[in-house]
Amino acid sequence: MAEGAASGLAGSLIETWQAQARDGFLLLDPEDHQIEVKSSTDPDTAVPYRFRWLPHRELRSNIPELERRRILNPARDERRLFRDPRDPSGRHCFLCIENIRECHPRELLIELNLADRTFYAGANYAWVGQNHFTVISGQHENQEYASDILGAMLDLHRATGGTFRVLFHGQGVGATIPWHLHLQITTEALPIEELSPAAEGAYPLAVHRFHPLRTGGDDVSTAVASWSAADHKNHGVNIIVAGSTTDPNVFVVPRDRRRAVASNKGLIGGFEVAGDFIYSEPSMREQFESATYHTAREALRQVRPVAPV
Ligand SMILES: [Zn+2]
Repeated sequence: MAEGAASGLAGSLIETWQAQARDGFLLLDPEDHQIEVKSSTDPDTAVPYRFRWLPHRELRSNIPELERRRILNPARDERRLFRDPRDPSGRHCFLCIENIRECHPRELLIELNLADRTFYAGANYAWVGQNHFTVISGQHENQEYASDILGAMLDLHRATGGTFRVLFHGQGVGATIPWHLHLQITTEALPIEELSPAAEGAYPLAVHRFHPLRTGGDDVSTAVASWSAADHKNHGVNIIVAGSTTDPNVFVVPRDRRRAVASNKGLIGGFEVAGDFIYSEPSMREQFESATYHTAREALRQVRPVAPV
């Protein structure tokens, strides 16, 4: 286990997660022994792709059920909720802190200062992994990469002693809320962490690995900016920070919003890019049962951008 695990910020986050589980705020108890997980290692890359059946996630848009469980406040005042005028559905912003306080008063928010900005970590009740928090900007601002986002990701990774993996999903390539900046964190090891530099060429997606503590990190921002500038409308990235705190790996995966969906999986977000495949829809049960590393390879291959990366 990484140095610093279960102490400091990592310890506070894990205790908060456990408290939220005890309180019934999570849609499924993360200790439920019936959670189905399977793994299939790709012989070409040694990446142990993981497949998880997490049907509780389907409840995240079931408002009566969320209200019944008091995950969603039945007495919320809809008039107080901020709505981004760009949202065609007219829904309130799920990530504005004031909206969360009104809608989810039982959610425990941990204030964080990352790269001189204020964020709040809140347990994701429709979690995809152990200790899965959404880390939310204190400001309602677009889900767009900027160099201080990398700084915030590295600060958070370091502050948890490397126990928490930090993910950024770009707009349209995993992020379903494009107008409010957020990160995802979990203590679950991600399969891509097993990808050796020598095997990167055999990974179905283009992966650019950086070592920002050796280089200063400008190379990450340059790579992201260059990919984005080549086609601002369609290009996005997934970014993953994992590894030791003394030399973290930053994986940057260029994506194309026109190729965000795989025929055998659906939307490929940051977790899938990292080799972690989440299934929740009843219609996907068969795909989950038959999934192997071939499935993962095929899904990732389908979303690899056509443009040179
Ligand atoms: Zn917002």
